[in-house]
Amino acid sequence: MLNAHQQQILRLLIASHGMSRTVLAEKMKLSKAAISTLVKEMLQAGLLEESIPESSGQGRPSVLLKMRADSAYFLGASLLGERVILVLIDMHGRTLAATQMPLNLDPPQLAKTIAAAIPDLIAQKSITQDQLIGLGVTLSGFVDENQAICVQSALLGWKNVPLAELLKQQTGLEVSLENDAKALAVSEKIFGVAKKARNFTLISHGDGIGSAHFFQGQLHRGAHGAAGEIAHCTIEPGGRPCRCGKRGCLDTLASLTAIRESVRDKALESESIAELEALAVKGNSAAIAILHQAGHALGLSIANIIQMNDPELIVIAHQPDAFDGLLKTVVMQAIDSHVLPSIIGKTPIASMVINEESWARAAASVAAYRFIIHLPD
Ligand SMILES: [Zn+2]
Repeated sequence: MLNAHQQQILRLLIASHGMSRTVLAEKMKLSKAAISTLVKEMLQAGLLEESIPESSGQGRPSVLLKMRADSAYFLGASLLGERVILVLIDMHGRTLAATQMPLNLDPPQLAKTIAAAIPDLIAQKSITQDQLIGLGVTLSGFVDENQAICVQSALLGWKNVPLAELLKQQTGLEVSLENDAKALAVSEKIFGVAKKARNFTLISHGDGIGSAHFFQGQLHRGAHGAAGEIAHCTIEPGGRPCRCGKRGCLDTLASLTAIRESVRDKALESESIAELEALAVKGNSAAIAILHQAGHALGLSIANIIQMNDPELIVIAHQPDAFDGLLKTVVMQAIDSHVLPSIIGKTPIASMVINEESWARAAASVAAYRFIIHLPD
């Protein structure tokens, strides 16, 4: 078992791209000899590996310590599509194997189906059950603060479903549930573009819009687990009716569902956002107006987040071919024109493509995150 200092070493290494013993000693305010002793045990236990970076030409490069990819494995299940996607990832966040199965909306049956798929999935990579640390599950809806109960999911038709316990009974694994956008933010925090950011916001743009915030290195859940529900911020008072019962929510203006509705209303011949963008390039005024309306609403919302929280980074996660061209240009313009002039251009905006498997990998990241922040004594 790891002691408190070794747990801290793991956290520091996971949050970096590798660290030398000297830097660890400085950050932990311990002697280099003490760090060397702690690290030696962790190397022997197969948790860490050493790598020698290429010389920068100034003296001998120091050896970097990193988590070994095979030091831990995690499973992730996405309940966001018509089928469950289950993936296996390693400690570096790489997806090693994936499988799909029907989404059974009966929670006990669903738990059995997922559990039954695990042995074949891990056998593909010759990984045994005892090398698995945990299972994460991502879904659309609210999750309780213990990440054990799906409090409410309109998509799944669930209320107060203790899915983590059902899955634990079937799999023997520690199980953590998470809302979709929050899971994606966790994934980018520990494995992706936001690794070094302590304060950032992720926006997921798809059929619906989600967001999640990290403050001071911690995921912000809010008092009722509802932090980040950007989809239902009112952007156009009295506007289009929203599925939530209000009017003029961001979702009714900027989601892919809203854009498709506008395309139908205008009777445009466009089957995808890429085709709509192509129409806009040709000068079709209705296509231009639809993309402008969506981009402006999304950009305005992001500007408000920047204005309120001053994040180090905004990450926009979007569907393939659905955030290029005019839509992206208008989003960027709307951000710049709605923040104070003194902070224009100071917040980097990263964009990334997500697909169905991204959500399952994000779910597995949630299990990894829980492992990292709750390491055993
Ligand atoms: Zn709404």
